[in-house]
This record gives sequence, C-alpha cells and structure tokens, in this order.
Amino acid sequence: MTIEIPELMKAAVLRDPAAGLRVEEIRTPRPKEGEVLVKVSACGMCHSDLHVLGGAIAFPMPCVLGHEVAGEVVEVGPHHGQPTVAVGDRVAGAFLMPCGRCESCAAGRDDLCVPFFTMNRLRGRLYDDTTRLFDVDGSPIWMYSMGGLAQYCVIPSTSVTVLPDGIDPVAGAILGCAAMTAYGAVRHGGDVRFGDSVAVVATGGVGSNVIQIARAFGASQIIAIDIADDKLDDAMRLGATAAVNSATSDARTEVLALTGGRGVDVAFEVLGRPETWTTALTVVRDGGRMVPIGLGAGVQTAGVEINQTVRRSQSIVGSYGARTRHDLPRVVDMAAKGQIDYRGIVSRRFALEDVAEGYALLRHGEIRGRAVIDMSL
Ligand SMILES: [Zn+2]
Ligand SMILES: [Zn+2]
Repeated sequence: MTIEIPELMKAAVLRDPAAGLRVEEIRTPRPKEGEVLVKVSACGMCHSDLHVLGGAIAFPMPCVLGHEVAGEVVEVGPHHGQPTVAVGDRVAGAFLMPCGRCESCAAGRDDLCVPFFTMNRLRGRLYDDTTRLFDVDGSPIWMYSMGGLAQYCVIPSTSVTVLPDGIDPVAGAILGCAAMTAYGAVRHGGDVRFGDSVAVVATGGVGSNVIQIARAFGASQIIAIDIADDKLDDAMRLGATAAVNSATSDARTEVLALTGGRGVDVAFEVLGRPETWTTALTVVRDGGRMVPIGLGAGVQTAGVEINQTVRRSQSIVGSYGARTRHDLPRVVDMAAKGQIDYRGIVSRRFALEDVAEGYALLRHGEIRGRAVIDMSL
C-alpha cells in the first residue's frame, strides 16, 4: 500500500520564544532507516513544552515542538526493522524515543537512553545526527522529540505502538506522554503495590493519569492535592479517594488525618516546582517514597530537609517518562481495556492554527486535564 505524501505541510514553528509559535508551510519529512512517517491525527499540548516556548529550557531554533502524537503510518523507512508496524497502521508515538542501541537501551532502560538526551533533547536531531525537518529553502528545522505539532512527523519505530481499533485517534495522542509518564512513575519510580496509599500533587494531564494507573495497580488510598477545585473534582471522578486543596488547607495536616497519622507510602510530584516538591515530601510516611515527575523550568532547585530525610528513611526516586519499548504497549492496552480514561482527560481540542492560544491557556492554568491539537479541525 502506498499513500500519496505532499511536498509541503503545515507545522507550528518556533523561531524565537519572543515571537511564539507560528503556523508555516515547511517540507514534509521523510523517514530513514528504522523510522516511520506518521500522518498526525492529533498532538497533545504538554506543560513541559511551556519551558521551551518561554525560553526557560534552551533548545535550538527554529524548531517544531509536539511530543505526544497519534496518527497513521503513511511510509516506513528502508530496511525497516520493526515489521509489526506497516503503512496504514494507526499508532501512538512516545516522546521518549530510545535509540535502541546504547548501553541503557540494551539494559531495557529506554528512559536513560544517552543518544536521546544528547542528540534529540539537546540538539533537536535524530540518531544519524540530522533532522528530518527542513524549511522550503532547505535550511534545517530542529525536532523536539518527533516534532508532532505538524501534519506529518517522522518517529523512530522503537517509539510507536499500534493502536487497536476502538482507540480514539485524537484523544489517543496523550498516551505517548501524559499516560506513559504516569505509567513509568507508578510502575517503576513509585513501585506501587496493591494496598499502598498514594498522594498526587498537581492533577493536570500527567497527574490525572497517575491517579488512574495507581488505582489500576491496586492503591488503597489515592489523595489528590491541587490548588484548583475543578481539577480536584476531575480527580475524584477519575478514582481519587480524597481531595485536598492545598491553597485553602494545609496538605500535610489533611493527609495525616486521612492516613491515620502515617502519611502516604508514595507521593508523586507532577509539576516541577519547589513548593510542590515540599508538599510532596511532607506527606510521605517514614520509609516512604517521593517520586518527582514534573520537569522544572531550566536549572531549578528544591529544598529538602536533611535530617527528616535521613531519620525517616525517605527516598526521592526521580522518574522520567517510561521504558518506551516495554511500557508504551502496556499503556495502550490499559487504555483499550478502559483502565485509563484517556478520553475523559482531554478537555479541549484546538485547530493547529490556534496552537498559540492553547498554550497561553495552559500557561495560565486554565486547561483541565489535557488539551490537544486536532488535525481534523
Ligand atoms: Zn509531555
Ligand atoms: Zn539508547
């Protein structure tokens, strides 16, 4: 099966943080060895994009952001190494794109893939040290992950999973970051077991998924902590057993009251701010784990009380994404079985032309759950 691929496509290009995202026509990318070309049906708008958009995290410009996508495979590269992905398949793409060849990938630790950090996250390239995106004049445009805020994107085949029939091709975009990051944190960082109590500090796109996945893993108590009552209402609907508004009450006092004075076994911190780190650390029980998932705005530090951490044997276990090749198929399976209500998390859909408006709302905390760019709009 061959599908006609246009020479040019629309993409949201960032040339200068001061000017913001602009929708432009650039060349449609083409896949190389071990890669697939995906016609994007939707791309999620993630809080971590704001750090690049605002200039807090340095990234080469011009670039195309967008790192959680769903779409249809329209071309596979030569000598394609993953015959399970074929033209016509609908797939989800993960933001964390393992090279599949480095020492970390060989050990199954896709989340620690060195080329992903050095080539893609620092330089906007894929693993042959080049980008797939070019302006109409042939000058390079750098890729943040796959550069999914576009009509087409190239993704290494290590980083896509086929979506079964029945998965919504628009809402399904959030599986590759919001849901997968949550899965990695619950499964690996938090190591949540049946009967554990957990707290989730900040209940946006990723936090909402942490709640659902912790529930699926058998957590007995899931305490949602946020400063917005509407987000806490959503959290309760998604399976939280209690909600604490940390703007109007003291989170530690409330969590201790809810846990018989112990604190929770695992606290997830999902925003990447010093104050949410503090909140998460103060609600963990003796011997418990605090799992930070939220990326900070560039180089940022949080205060940790030394003696409390030492005397109470608390662990801080960072978690970034998940082990894509192993975990993304499981996330998709959980969504297919209804264990992750990914549709219910998507609260807003924007056309690509309205991408700047969507991120402005996200920056002002006005997006519940997740917003996505829907390419059919
Ligand atoms: Zn993300
Ligand atoms: Zn690797």
